Amino acid sequence: MSKILKANPIVESSSEELKKKAESLLSRGVTPRLDVILVGSNPASMTYVRNKKKRAEGLGAICNIHHLDEQISTEEFLAKVNSIQADPAVHGCFVQLPLPKQLDQINTHQLIRADKDVDGFHPLNACSAFSGEELNQHLIACTPSGIIDMLDFYDYDLTGKKVVVIGRSMIVGRPVAMLCLARNATVTICHSRTKDLREETKQADIIISAIGKANFLDKSFLNNQKNQVVIDVGINLDENGKLVGDLKAEDMQEYAGAYSPVPGGVGPMTINSLMKNLFKAAEKLNELGN
Ligand code: NAD
Repeated sequence: MSKILKANPIVESSSEELKKKAESLLSRGVTPRLDVILVGSNPASMTYVRNKKKRAEGLGAICNIHHLDEQISTEEFLAKVNSIQADPAVHGCFVQLPLPKQLDQINTHQLIRADKDVDGFHPLNACSAFSGEELNQHLIACTPSGIIDMLDFYDYDLTGKKVVVIGRSMIVGRPVAMLCLARNATVTICHSRTKDLREETKQADIIISAIGKANFLDKSFLNNQKNQVVIDVGINLDENGKLVGDLKAEDMQEYAGAYSPVPGGVGPMTINSLMKNLFKAAEKLNELGN
């Protein structure tokens, strides 16, 4: 039976630390504040935003949701975002994606100033993740840093390990590969044009799957002699409308050494990283007297 890498114990211990930080900030007259910009009423986005608000408030932070009209013009949207992030009381800010079609031209990665960019998408923050330098000083992308936190919590030392990342997006695949590299892993990034994905994954000590295809990764991708650790980033609905990851869970139980579940794995770790970024931003902005 393989080990299941649940997020719960990590989130619990992180919450204790963050609540202490909230108290310390409050004693200096600062309440961490997260402002979320939501355009339209995409049901999944509304659920994500509600969950983030609940978590922030549970930690003693303020969370304001700015719910904007689906038809908002680019000019109005940009003016609103800029006025929100210019407010000195706001420590962290993000735009819930996706945005409606008419806002397609906006470069969302550069929209929020780097020191309040709790998503970690701004080029200054992305550069830190890619160079592996000053990671503590910057706001690092939430899903990648949540995966590293998960591997740390369960005591997987990445030094010299072969990590295979499946997916090359700017928000998951590439940055998580670079964070693993910064931990001295030997990293291979695979994608839809990789010639023989099984050949790659069978050699891995750790597989990180960020594809977005339900039950894609089954036992045929694993090497059951290697005690492999498999991290599932995927969020998919299966043919019955059930929330599943990229991994075929029953195969993982038999063939992997450990794997992260969906739900209850990388998803909550991502929100946890968002909260850590909010508190980091609040502390830094407060130090600087902003
Ligand atoms: P994306 O669509 O930008 O990237 C998917 C990647 O998968 C691409 O790089 C593509 O090359 C690769 N791919 C597709 N088919 C493949 C195949 N047959 N073989 C090998 N590689 C293949 O998606 P993304 O934004 O990186 O997200 C990936 C998944 O992770 C989605 O399901 C998304 O919902 C989920 N996600 C989860 C969280 C979380 O918090 N748990 C956060 C972000 C994304």
